[in-house]
Amino acid sequence: MILFWDGKFMYGYEVFHEELMKNLIESVHGGKSSHAYIFEGEKGLGTLEAARLFAAALTCSNTSISPCGTCQTCIESKADTNPDIIYVRPQKDKKSIGADDMRALSDDVAIKPFNSERKVYIIEDGALLTEPAQNTFLKTFEEPPEYAVFIMLIENLSTLLDTVLSRFTLVHFPVLSEERIKKYITEKYPEEKERLPFLLKYCSGIPETVDAVINDSEFESLRDISLEKIFALASRDKRDAFVIQKFLEEKKENINQILDFWLSFVRDAVLIQLNARDKIMNVDKKDILKDFSSKTNPEIVLMLYDRLVTAQKMIKRYVNIKGLSLWLSLKK
Ligand SMILES: [Zn+2]
Repeated sequence: MILFWDGKFMYGYEVFHEELMKNLIESVHGGKSSHAYIFEGEKGLGTLEAARLFAAALTCSNTSISPCGTCQTCIESKADTNPDIIYVRPQKDKKSIGADDMRALSDDVAIKPFNSERKVYIIEDGALLTEPAQNTFLKTFEEPPEYAVFIMLIENLSTLLDTVLSRFTLVHFPVLSEERIKKYITEKYPEEKERLPFLLKYCSGIPETVDAVINDSEFESLRDISLEKIFALASRDKRDAFVIQKFLEEKKENINQILDFWLSFVRDAVLIQLNARDKIMNVDKKDILKDFSSKTNPEIVLMLYDRLVTAQKMIKRYVNIKGLSLWLSLKK
């Protein structure tokens, strides 16, 4: 028999919100399932895996415990070959899901399930639905067949029309508590004892960020060389602006990560100024932090913080490294 929860997997699925999933699955058994769910939460919290589990529960042939993990449907669900669980994503050459895609989906919804009592549609990223697509979806939704269930994953609800939102049952996936993520790190990566305090702060309760950091062999070296440049960044010497520019040009592909490192470091420096040392993130870099805070004027630190926050937004729209470097170096 498949275990409900073995400390890591729930019915064989690696989810991080076991209590929430338990309630959700029980609500189905209690006959309180909805036709549409939004799983809202930051990337990296395992909402897709949670949706896979929920879809398995919704389609399992055994209704007593769900998902049983042993029926043909459950085996297919686990292998992503269950014909009654459909993943909705943009077509190969497209970046978004348009009205045409939604009309095709609507045709598919009209076809009865193959084996199960339900047919589940997992919309993997609701942010990719264009506005016309959302309107087309609403039409499908006016009278959905009894068997259809939609699960939409999304990071941020702001891209959805209110009319769409109001039709869905909203399920919020919070970031993990420090205790829960600590358990995740220590069990999966017992060798990471030394970096644990940093990982806890840096990954802010998101397990996939932990995986990304630990499995990225370049992470620590990039972080180290980025932090070495922090004095040049805060300097008003013109030559240092070139140091920053050269560095960013060389590391163009990693610019987001570098800005992340700088921002978290400067944020820590602000916290030190505010006497809130217990909140700092770069706990393993206390020496550089201390050095930086003592050598840098508090006003400059605050100004740099503001500029880094803005730089992160700017970089999403365009990259002009020369301009960005000069501006970051407080020359303007
Ligand atoms: Zn089953």
